[in-house]
Amino acid sequence: MRAIARFAGVIVDVRASAVNKVFHYSIPQHLDKIRLGHRVLVPFGSRKIEAYVVELADRVELDPQRIKPIIKLLDLEPMFTGEQLEVASWMVGKYSGLYAQALQFFLPTGTRFGKERVGVKQQLAVELVHPELIDDYLASLSPKAVRQMQVLLSLKNQPLQLASELCEKTKASYHTLKALQAKGYISVEPRAIERELELPVETKPVPVLTSEQREALQVIIEEFHEGHTPVLIHGVTDSGKTEVYLRAIAHCLQHGRQAIMMVPEISLTEQTIARFTQRFSNQVAVLHSGLSEGERYDQWQKIKKGDLPIVIGARSAVFAPLQKIGLIVIDEEHEGTYKQTDGLLKYHARSVALQRAKHHEAVVVMGSATPAVESYHRALRGDYRLVAMPNRVFDRPFPEVSLVDMRAEFSGGNRSMFSGLLTEELAKTLERQEQAIILLNRRGYSAFVLCRECGYVASCSNCHVSLTYHRDNRLRCHYCGYSEMLRPSCPQCGSHYIRRFGTGTQQLEEHIRKNFAQARIVRLDADTTRRKGSHQRLLNQFREGRANVLIGTQMIAKGLDFPDVTLVGVISADLALNFPDFRAAERTYQLLAQVSGRAGRGPKLGKVIIQSYDPSHYAVRSVPKHDYTAFYRQEIVYRRQLEYPPLGYLARILIHGPEEAVKVQAAEINQSLRNKLAHARIYGPAPAPISKLKGRHRWQIIVKTKREISHLLTDLPRQDGTVTVTVDPDPLFLL
Ligand code: ADP
Ligand code: ZN
Ligand code: ZN
Repeated sequence: MRAIARFAGVIVDVRASAVNKVFHYSIPQHLDKIRLGHRVLVPFGSRKIEAYVVELADRVELDPQRIKPIIKLLDLEPMFTGEQLEVASWMVGKYSGLYAQALQFFLPTGTRFGKERVGVKQQLAVELVHPELIDDYLASLSPKAVRQMQVLLSLKNQPLQLASELCEKTKASYHTLKALQAKGYISVEPRAIERELELPVETKPVPVLTSEQREALQVIIEEFHEGHTPVLIHGVTDSGKTEVYLRAIAHCLQHGRQAIMMVPEISLTEQTIARFTQRFSNQVAVLHSGLSEGERYDQWQKIKKGDLPIVIGARSAVFAPLQKIGLIVIDEEHEGTYKQTDGLLKYHARSVALQRAKHHEAVVVMGSATPAVESYHRALRGDYRLVAMPNRVFDRPFPEVSLVDMRAEFSGGNRSMFSGLLTEELAKTLERQEQAIILLNRRGYSAFVLCRECGYVASCSNCHVSLTYHRDNRLRCHYCGYSEMLRPSCPQCGSHYIRRFGTGTQQLEEHIRKNFAQARIVRLDADTTRRKGSHQRLLNQFREGRANVLIGTQMIAKGLDFPDVTLVGVISADLALNFPDFRAAERTYQLLAQVSGRAGRGPKLGKVIIQSYDPSHYAVRSVPKHDYTAFYRQEIVYRRQLEYPPLGYLARILIHGPEEAVKVQAAEINQSLRNKLAHARIYGPAPAPISKLKGRHRWQIIVKTKREISHLLTDLPRQDGTVTVTVDPDPLFLL
């Protein structure tokens, strides 16, 4: 038996504080069951607070006389495994975060530091003690007890409910329930009410692998058993990557290990899930944002118990509480949605996956038709095994991609948003009763309003972004929601030549409606998909052939599989190219390549037409040849010259709050960085591209270095009065 540790290092559960340090307590004899990851109660100042055990030790450097004992053990089972604690600690160093923030990701949503534990409460069931007396109960309440009233009314309809769902519905707090319980009206007790998730099932037969697929699978299996080097599959759309993932997962399960399958939120469709449930019917857990907190908590518990060895989900699935991970698949590994952009700890799920895999001796399999420049670079350098799958299943031909120079169209007298070629091809497609997808990377009736005489652009006074024109004749800010009426004349010079400029999906819809009599249009963008379920409903409408033209923003570019689509049009490739970000070219190539993959998925041939004002740009030019490596070779030269990632490190420090305070803070941070980092290149402080958001000014400092410096920035993130400082040592977006 191991010697019993006498001291425990804990992370206290205080959310607001910037306490990023381990505190030590002694372990009293009767609590010798305490293990790493356990939740405990400790004295902290004059309070008693919850804490998590992250270290066990036989001695501590402090004076043992002054060390206080742990008061209580709060759960039978530890909340975190040793592996999770170590990955959390790695995240703290890598992303300049706080330990408490990192640990939080490993808990189901709802189980939050410093907040009431909805997750735990989840299992509480609320029941009316005497349903027949409900009207008397209601009559007895004070008219001010609105929440209590609502709880009772809800219970009147449904006398037994989960506490969490009842609270969510009625906006009541746990205290409301306690009050009603004290009156003897309701009982609140733990009960096992388990929600079964209903998962769709797909019925296609299991195919025989192609030779490319067999080779890819072989590499994964080799690494699964030995070496555990990550694998990057560079496989074109339809090369059969998903089929390879399915086989690899099956192999992993046969060897008694578990698997995480990550897909971007947007591809977490019924179609995708069905392919997994078909093979692994009742072994699959799904974690996605559409689940209620309760459903999420249940899935989490089942995963933790080991009942569901396969976890499919978006970014947060990387934290799934599996204990014997053998395989982590990251499909579409280049996707920006794997990066956490909110909050103070901005992790990248790919990096976390690689870290977890190290502890489990698991293989990470990354797949993409357009790998992130960083990933491809690492693969070429030998950090990952690179597997190419350049052919489509059944050697289906690639769609024919044409570039159209819109400058020539304009000088030739064509002022419409459709080139001659696109007009002709869409007409032919509709004539043949086939389907088309038209992409426009903007929403709203048109992008912005511009005065042709003086150049005035209507913009939001809160956010410093241009306002978007909507059909109700209003201009709206897409960040803060501000809106105003479109004025008939320019507020700056009085000219009447103030016009909508650029094009939006609504205008595109109108253009098609006017010019193509046979078109039945479905529009997919942030406006039409705001309501829950509408995204899926609109796609189904298109899939079932009730519409023949799907138009939309980048939302439609990815992961969809429509066999009857034979034409894909891109209205303007330039919108993405002109973003103020060093990854703009990479994003443009990815977008165009992905959208090109949408054509000709079925037995019929596909055509792609890309319109651009800059068709000779390498990110556009490489698309028709389906030549990722041509794009990559150009891009890496430029990254090397400017020492951008992956050939350098870039960190962004964002300071936001009231203008004056922000400037003072920014100057201070700037000075201390310059003192500390003699060899780094430091840009700024300067207003961020979005220099004002929701009324707060945003300034940034960009630090570019040859070496990773995140460990030098850990003392920066903080909330200082009204100013918030966040650090992203690996920023993916610089807005
Ligand atoms: P990717 O993930 O690379 O886009 P998928 O695995 O989704 O490719 O395969 C594309 C299509 O081809 C799917 O409809 C899939 O069912 C089918 N498919 C995949 N592998 C095979 C195979 N070996 N034989 C027949 N059909 C296959
Ligand atoms: Zn003007
Ligand atoms: Zn705004």
